[in-house]
Amino acid sequence: MRSIVWFRHNLRLSDNPPLYQAVREGPALPVYIWDPSLDTLPDGARKWWLAGSLRALNGEFISHGLALVLLRGPSEEILFRLARDLKVGAVHAAPGRTPEERSLDLRVARILSGAGISFRTESSDYLVPPEFVPEGRSGPWKIFAHFWRSCRSRLPPDLPLPAPERIVKVPGPQGERLGDWGWDPPAPDWAHTMRRLWRPGESAAHERLGAFVAEDLAGYGRRRDFPAEAATSKLSPHLAQGEISPRQIWWKVSESEAPEKDREKFLEELGWREFSAHLLWHHPEMRESPLRRSFLDYPWKTGGGEFELWKRGMTGFPLVDAGMRELRQTGSMPNRVRMVAASFLVKNLGISWRSGAAWFADNLVDYDPASNFASWQWVAGCGTDAAPFFRVFNPVLQGERYDPRGEYVRRFVPELARVPDRFVHRPWMISGGSENKSEDFSSSYPDPIVELATSRNKALQAFRRLSTPG
Ligand SMILES: Cc1cc2nc3c(=O)[nH]c(=O)nc-3n(C[C@H](O)[C@H](O)[C@H](O)COP(=O)(O)OP(=O)(O)OC[C@H]3O[C@@H](n4cnc5c(N)ncnc54)[C@H](O)[C@@H]3O)c2cc1C
Repeated sequence: MRSIVWFRHNLRLSDNPPLYQAVREGPALPVYIWDPSLDTLPDGARKWWLAGSLRALNGEFISHGLALVLLRGPSEEILFRLARDLKVGAVHAAPGRTPEERSLDLRVARILSGAGISFRTESSDYLVPPEFVPEGRSGPWKIFAHFWRSCRSRLPPDLPLPAPERIVKVPGPQGERLGDWGWDPPAPDWAHTMRRLWRPGESAAHERLGAFVAEDLAGYGRRRDFPAEAATSKLSPHLAQGEISPRQIWWKVSESEAPEKDREKFLEELGWREFSAHLLWHHPEMRESPLRRSFLDYPWKTGGGEFELWKRGMTGFPLVDAGMRELRQTGSMPNRVRMVAASFLVKNLGISWRSGAAWFADNLVDYDPASNFASWQWVAGCGTDAAPFFRVFNPVLQGERYDPRGEYVRRFVPELARVPDRFVHRPWMISGGSENKSEDFSSSYPDPIVELATSRNKALQAFRRLSTPG
């Protein structure tokens, strides 16, 4: 049977069930559709990555003697017209992940079935389907540890599928040019550092995984929180576009000779990705509303001058500023620093987690609607299994603990390059402390925009008012 393979967030040839199935059944046409109605937030950095990912996937198809057809517009109309004109019997795809994509899936299935064409979805985007709730449980999971224990008992996952050896093509339309979609940055080129650091695409994803397993998996548990070490996998943007599947990662990690505790810790981090997807599946409102309803009345601010300073990395708190500047330059930030920068925004500046999440969405190459919003709710204390609200990360103490010599901070905040280690996370003390008055190491670096203890207490008071009715 001839079919269309609709590529979405599974931009790979190997371990790709829709592609595998379609090719087994007959000739296939690979298609990618940019449907602007699904763009719920600006996501510039992710689009930059996606452009690279689509180019890489097209390169793979060219080596099989066909090309990825790029189309733009309402997905259901495009698929219907294409399927009808090409007389295919089926459209294969990975199922939608966001609420908008899921309702699109229903529309696609309806419109295609009206024309006698089947719409078949199958996924290897997660280790466990996001909707999964074990028999006997009344509702979705709330606590990560319980969720992961239940998933763990269903694992290992199936073995990954191979890439098709040969693909017979269905002759299709020419499609659009990626360069016409405006995803590559205009001048000035804000992506020049990203281009140097990252390489999108399936083969790059596997090289990254191989290098991580060989060099950094042993010791992952101990080193992962130290941002200067860069000891984590950096697989998140590859996962976000589906250039590699979690079960490919699972098997490579599980079969490595790294110590078991490091392997388990790493797989548990993949578990957080699964948990986030589970939450978004069962709480489609998660990107707008707090999962803990009591937070509906929390008096968050939504913007203003302090928000702008946070975005630009000019808060006067070195760890926060280094993270925010790294985000702008590279499209990423280590997990520990994401937590500290996010906590500072919501708890010390009192600005809504939704504003922070939108900024991250626009700037992260690994932007993933489930992980981003679940993580922001976790930090803000309003998620199901969240850090308690009174846990306010102190950016100075976090810096001194996880970046004791200021190597990470100095990399992104050059104003602090010459500041002695003991002041690098509290540079305001240089001019205040008598011993160093004559040496002004950091004159161009801003003073702190808030007082940590006062702003923390203010947040806690607002929280107590929420918790005490009346
Ligand atoms: C405020 C905030 C926003 C975030 N937004 C995103 C986002 O949009 N997209 C995203 O992929 N991750 C997000 N994260 C989670 C995490 O920071 C990144 O997944 C991680 O930093 C990616 O680096 P890595 O691939 O080297 O991770 P590793 O430590 O190597 O972990 C391996 C993989 O596990 C997954 N993972 C690890 N930690 C988490 C986590 N806390 N939540 C969900 N999955 C996790 C990722 O897929 C990651 O690639 C966010 C975290 C915070 C605190």
